[in-house]
Amino acid sequence: MTRRPSPEALAEGVRTGRRAAIGQAISLVESRRPSHRALADALLEALPPPEEPAFRLGISGPPGVGKSTFIEAFGWARLEEGHRVAVLAVDPSSVRTGGSILADKTRMARLSMDERAFVRPSPSGGSLGGVSRRTREAMQVVEAAGFDVVIIETVGVGQSETAVAQMVDSFLLLMLAGAGDDVQGIKRGILEWADLLAITKSDGDNQTRAGNAANDLRSALSIFLPENAPWTPPVRTCSAMNGDGLGQLWEDLGQHRDTMTKLGLFEDRRRQQRVQWFREELEAQMREDLRRRTDLESVEQQVEAGVLAPGVAARRVLELDVGTTS
Ligand code: GDP
Repeated sequence: MTRRPSPEALAEGVRTGRRAAIGQAISLVESRRPSHRALADALLEALPPPEEPAFRLGISGPPGVGKSTFIEAFGWARLEEGHRVAVLAVDPSSVRTGGSILADKTRMARLSMDERAFVRPSPSGGSLGGVSRRTREAMQVVEAAGFDVVIIETVGVGQSETAVAQMVDSFLLLMLAGAGDDVQGIKRGILEWADLLAITKSDGDNQTRAGNAANDLRSALSIFLPENAPWTPPVRTCSAMNGDGLGQLWEDLGQHRDTMTKLGLFEDRRRQQRVQWFREELEAQMREDLRRRTDLESVEQQVEAGVLAPGVAARRVLELDVGTTS
């Protein structure tokens, strides 16, 4: 195993944009080894915040909707405009399988190969909570490295999309036009998180269907939106295959950011997200701490056997009155 540089040296490597250092830094914050945590914290503290807040964009949608094709084309256009693009792909399925479908090397091949971009699948860290905890820190790393457009991608299954929506400035939901004119693969709850919506694969025979689906969705959305909402999420059609609609979506994103900034809501959202992040960290760290100091399994066995009442057991665990290991 190669020796890991000190957190300060790693931070300096990240700051100067060294790819190996960025990769190592993300591995460090993602590491589940307790001994790595202090090093990760020191690294994060040593990382400078970006001069200008980066563009944090969440992208979600059902499997096969065209997320990676979209990000490849959309991200490429940003590189051509002089931006630097980082893509962090969060894969909730790795919680179950231990593997990662997003780790497929053929995804975003062009972006992955380019010096101006950084593409990284992010393991979920064993739990859904882990998704947001580690991805937020990975985001901090790439922003310190000078990537000014940060895309967090997640498959639209489970709660990962809500978690992602809560760590970005703008959340784009990609959808497919169904076999009829309906919109498929979408859970209603997530609509409320979307700042932008796009029906993908609007090309060839599918173009009319996509247009109809967008119209339907616009009507459906109007039911959700409060009357004086500061922002009405635009519903667009696009094709990553021929590039149609991608420029419009980038414009929409700019508009969203401008509108939110003018109303003071951009910074508001980030402030709330920081507090949310703190709360999640606190809970997760308390749980980890408790697990370290307590043999929860033995307590659970007592609860299971009916020897200890669940409420009593929980209180005693918290008071370190039962099951302590040290
Ligand atoms: P993901 O699972 O959401 O990342 O979807 P992919 O990007 O892997 O795309 C799934 C399939 O849809 C692939 O076969 C793509 O070639 C195809 N696809 C993606 N975008 C488009 C598009 O804009 N138009 C058409 N016709 N096909 C697309």
